Order: sequence, then structure tokens, then C-alpha cells
Amino acid sequence: MFANLSDRLTETFRNLRGKGRLTEADIDGTIREIRRALLDADVAVPVVRTFTGNIRERALGAEVSGALNPGQQVVKIVNEELVAILGGEARQLRFAKNGPTVIMLAGLQGAGKTTLAGKLAHHLKQQGHTPLLVAADLQRPNAVTQLKVVGERAGVPVFAPEAGVTREDERPRGNPVKVAKKGLKEAEQRQHSVVIVDTAGRLGIDQELMKQASDIRKAVEPDEVLFVIDAMIGQDAVATATAFQEGVDFTGVVLTKLDGDARGGAALSVAEVTGRPIMFASTGEKLDDFEVFHPDRMASRILD
Ligand code: GDP
Repeated sequence: MFANLSDRLTETFRNLRGKGRLTEADIDGTIREIRRALLDADVAVPVVRTFTGNIRERALGAEVSGALNPGQQVVKIVNEELVAILGGEARQLRFAKNGPTVIMLAGLQGAGKTTLAGKLAHHLKQQGHTPLLVAADLQRPNAVTQLKVVGERAGVPVFAPEAGVTREDERPRGNPVKVAKKGLKEAEQRQHSVVIVDTAGRLGIDQELMKQASDIRKAVEPDEVLFVIDAMIGQDAVATATAFQEGVDFTGVVLTKLDGDARGGAALSVAEVTGRPIMFASTGEKLDDFEVFHPDRMASRILD
């Protein structure tokens, strides 16, 4: 991911190298290149506007520091502004003071929620927590079974509706809100320290499922609601994130499929547009392909 954006930015900065002083025309030329590179990487237009506006203002007003030449100064500003649009500081999960910490996952079908549920459970288990996975995605025929497989792989128990799936192609029976609530009760009784609730998504934004997710949120009062988004989503990132923010008021973002050849637009747009931090990144299908998201490291990776 970001390979193309990274190359384009490097090329832009190369043109500044060796210049003794930057004129306004140099800076405007650079900004134009940066704008094009970001738009080609599918970064949302308002984000590109804010980003380039900030860089221009700071580059024009930049003091010529003794240690850095003007080109390096611009790279430093771009780096700092990248960190800022990626959310600034890394944010840790908030844990409940009493009783189990409830983490709800929301996002479109195929975004990677179920896979992420296993990875997050695995990560928390390694930190000494005792997670319980709750299968409240009763929409997709195979979702409950898939979560059970993921739970088994992570060595974490799964709470699922008792009726279960009778046939591969049949929807599991039960009310997802009730399942989520029962899962939480089970976690309290068995003294699990964390409950991860997997919810249903559709391929597109769907009012009925958004209401269901919102009802689950009200029923289990999560400490964190993580919006899971596929980095490949491109220009749809903003509309999707905004719809989920209205629907479930998520507290953090998880980017998935960062191992793919996505152009990076979703990653660079979502935190800025929603004001919610990117907290984790998923980088493959294996349990360990999971990272705590650090905006500064991601910015360095892009500008490397
Ligand atoms: P859900 O519908 O949101 O629960 O999505 P799933 O967890 O079922 O994931 C959808 C597909 O994406 C599955 O085939 C996963 O194996 C795959 N997947 C999930 N996360 C990643 C990731 O970070 N990288 C890659 N390459 N594939 C992923």
C-alpha cells in the first residue's frame, strides 16, 4: 500500500533538493504535485484541500532553520501534517473500570470484521485479558460458524445463539440484540475481562442493519465501537464512514487489508473526516497480521 503515493512524493521532494531558497512559485509547484499525488491515491477532496492548505501556509511562513535546507523543511512540514491527518497521537483502547470492557465491531460486509474479531481477541489475550467473542452477526449464513473458527484459532471462547445454523445456506435464527445482551451477561457471569461483539454488515449501507447495529450499541453500552473499513474502498471511504458515524457513533477506526495494493485514500481520509482515531490495522489473513496503529510510523512509511 501507498507505494505509488510514496514514489510520487519522493519525486516531488527530489525536485526541491539543492535549492537555496524556495520562492512562492516553487512552493506552489510542490503543492500542486502533492495535490495530484493525493487525489490519484483516492484521498477525499476535502482532506486534500485541508492538507495542502496547511502545508502551503506553513511552507510560506517557514523560518529557514540552520539545520535544514528549504527542501528538508518542506518534507518535515509534510510529515507533520500527515501525522496530523492520520490522527496525531496513537490512542489506546479504553478499558472499563468495573466489569467486562465491551468492544463492538461495525462495518460493511467483507470489511474484515470477523477476521479482526479473532485478531483483536488474540492481541488482548496476549496482554493478559480473557476475551469472549459474541456472534451477533446473524445476517450472513456462515458468519457464526466463521467466528467459531476464528475463536478456536485464537483460543478464545465464542458465545453464539443456541439455535445455531442448521444448513450452510440458512440464516442463523435469533435476535442479534438479544444475543449481544446474553453474551454480555455470560461474560459477566464467567468473569471475562473483555467482550468483543461482532455485528452484521451489508455490501452497501443499509438502513435496517444500521438500526440493528444502533440497537445493539444501546443494549450493550460498549466502551469502544470500532468501525472496520477495508483500505481498498477508495473514494467511498468518506460516505461509508460518515454513515457509520451517524448510525453507531463509533469511537475508533480499524483499517483492514493494508497488505493489499490499495492506494491509501481510505487511510488518509477517515480519521480527518470523522475526527475519530485509527486505532488498529489489519495486514493479512493470519492471526498475527495485526498492528496497533501509529500515525507517526505510517507517515514515515509514506515518506520513506
Ligand atoms: P466481515 O464480513 O466484515 O466479517 O469480513 P471477513 O472477516 O469475513 O473478511 C472478508 C474477507 O477478507 C475474508 O476472506 C478475509 O480472509 C479477508 N481479510 C480480512 N482482513 C484481511 C486483511 O487484513 N488482509 C487480507 N489480505 N485479507 C483480509
